[in-house]
Amino acid sequence: MKHVAILGSTGSVGTSALDVVSAHSEKLCVVGLAAGENVERFSDQVEKFKPSAIAMATLGALTSVQSRLQGADIEVKSASFGTEGLIAVATHPDADVVLCASSGTAALEAVLMAIDAGKTIALANKEVLVMAGGLVTELARQRQVSILPVDSEHSAIHQCLQGQADADIKRLILTASGGPFRGQSGTALQDVTPEDALRHPTWTMGAKITIDSATMMNKGLEVIEAHWLFGVQPNNIDVLIHPQSIVHSMVEFRDGSVIAQLGLADMRLPIQYALSYPERWDGHLPGLDLARCETLQFQDPDHTHFPCLKLAYRALKGKAELSIALNAANEVAVEAFLSGELAFLHIPTIIERTLDARDLMSPMNIRTVGDVREIDRWARDFSNEQVTELESKQ
Ligand code: MG
Repeated sequence: MKHVAILGSTGSVGTSALDVVSAHSEKLCVVGLAAGENVERFSDQVEKFKPSAIAMATLGALTSVQSRLQGADIEVKSASFGTEGLIAVATHPDADVVLCASSGTAALEAVLMAIDAGKTIALANKEVLVMAGGLVTELARQRQVSILPVDSEHSAIHQCLQGQADADIKRLILTASGGPFRGQSGTALQDVTPEDALRHPTWTMGAKITIDSATMMNKGLEVIEAHWLFGVQPNNIDVLIHPQSIVHSMVEFRDGSVIAQLGLADMRLPIQYALSYPERWDGHLPGLDLARCETLQFQDPDHTHFPCLKLAYRALKGKAELSIALNAANEVAVEAFLSGELAFLHIPTIIERTLDARDLMSPMNIRTVGDVREIDRWARDFSNEQVTELESKQ
């Protein structure tokens, strides 16, 4: 029996993970759940999965959950909130695997403490590696802890690399659906609304990651993630647009052979792979029927209309703090776009200005989470100012 703790249980990856747990209840059990503020869904999950540790983002949300659960036959041993809550769930003494599926940067400390406590990490959150890839992978190496990717592309690459030597890898090829605006030009993109951008053609996900898919920044963050997970240099990580989302990614080896992983676009697949690894378990989804698939297409990305991908490469190739600045500026810009304060085409403008400004500052040695947080705060302040400035011109 594997004991699982889930950070971000009410989000799209979290709920899919609980589906996987239900489908394999003889092999998986939940010992801890943490979520943001979705009181109703979280209470239902706690009633069903009976974790002994729970956490919510705020005291208010936690109190609401507790009052909803009064009278239910549940023995919660630890209930907490905020960063402390995330840490309590992530370091639960009985947890073997910690699935980090919360969005944003709040879980960084919790993931580091889970690694320190020797827990296997199933990582669905990109920000953790984008912001602190060096710290996280170094600590995991010291503690001999595995970080198993849950992001579908990285899960694919992990599968393609089984039994292969690192020295034989020529390049990683991440596939991208291209998002809802694939093939569109600058003028069409000018008037994009949050509603347009939230309509993703192949994957159903949270708002932030759906906008990131529309700008292609999601793929940029994934390039950075791939660098840290697999130790491959940015020049050896490529991106291919593949609108059908059937080939989840590929690896080319030194002899020219390419190995790809294929499957339906359903997050339960990579989640189950991470939770079952190194085993494989029965699937509970319909199989992939390639004869019924239409043509599988592949194209180079359109860097002119979707500059975010190049910005991510620039950050990864530059000094370490650029990735932190990129991530923070992107979060600020996406939030401003979703609230109607910023035009879609200005999302990359905000990020580029933030990278330019950071490039002019003297490099910083990132040794602690405190250092990461300091650059993150600077980048958020700076990019917020840039949003205000651009808005006043509109
Ligand atoms: Mg992905």
